[in-house]
Amino acid sequence: MKSHDKNWLKLTIACLFILPLISSCTAESGKETVKESAKETVRETVKETGDANKFEVATSIATLEFDTSNAPDLKQWTKEKFAPAIKEWVVKLTDIMASDGWTPPEKIYFQFVNVKLRDADHAPAWAVPSESQVSLRVDWFRENLDGEALGSTIHELTHVMQNYWTEGATEDNCPEWASEGYADYIRWVLFEPESKGCDFVLKAPDKYHYNDSYRVTAHFFGFVESRFPGTMKKLNAALRDHSFDDGKFWKKTTGKSAKELEADWRAANKEAAAKSKAKAE
Ligand SMILES: [Zn+2]
Repeated sequence: MKSHDKNWLKLTIACLFILPLISSCTAESGKETVKESAKETVRETVKETGDANKFEVATSIATLEFDTSNAPDLKQWTKEKFAPAIKEWVVKLTDIMASDGWTPPEKIYFQFVNVKLRDADHAPAWAVPSESQVSLRVDWFRENLDGEALGSTIHELTHVMQNYWTEGATEDNCPEWASEGYADYIRWVLFEPESKGCDFVLKAPDKYHYNDSYRVTAHFFGFVESRFPGTMKKLNAALRDHSFDDGKFWKKTTGKSAKELEADWRAANKEAAAKSKAKAE
């Protein structure tokens, strides 16, 4: 979900996570190992700011500032689990989302807040890409530290790195379904594929459309990338420089129109669903 400020450049993006499969989002043991090794690295790079509840973490790309003033009880978790994972993914996303003329932000702010986002009471986190800022709702995070906390932040971090909504952006050259689908593609397909957060589309392949946004579009993007590697990098670049045209982009990039790709995606989903059913029987 996205809510529009009067000032287009200060767009705030809120995102929905209260969707199916929440219970399957718990980190698996393999991922914990990665986090543990990252923990050692982050200890060396944490810079205290003089404020007991604010600290900075240096990365090779950007300085990350974490503000736990509204949730001092989350400070230890933020330092030991949260910051190391964010640090790792800021660097990864800079590579994954590189495009001509784009430079990543020099500083990214993560702050725990007690407010709810207007018109989106259920949104656990939201981003203001123009200010490289991510807000994290304290009550929701306290309940989801071992569940969706990290994944939802990766989605918001993706919005900060996208920074698509600069002058000239329109719903045609930078549609919401594509930006949200891309953020969920980063989260569910690349960051936490083991959660299988998009696999519900296999249960009813004909029900979904490629531009249904969020996890459905993320699943479609994962399919297209698997068949035509490099397409997502081109999509990110086109959305960012506002050259995206849904009627032309897919044909030009893959040789197939969006509708043709959607048909291929549905066929592959049916095949995958049948295989998994046969395996279960
Ligand atoms: Zn979003």
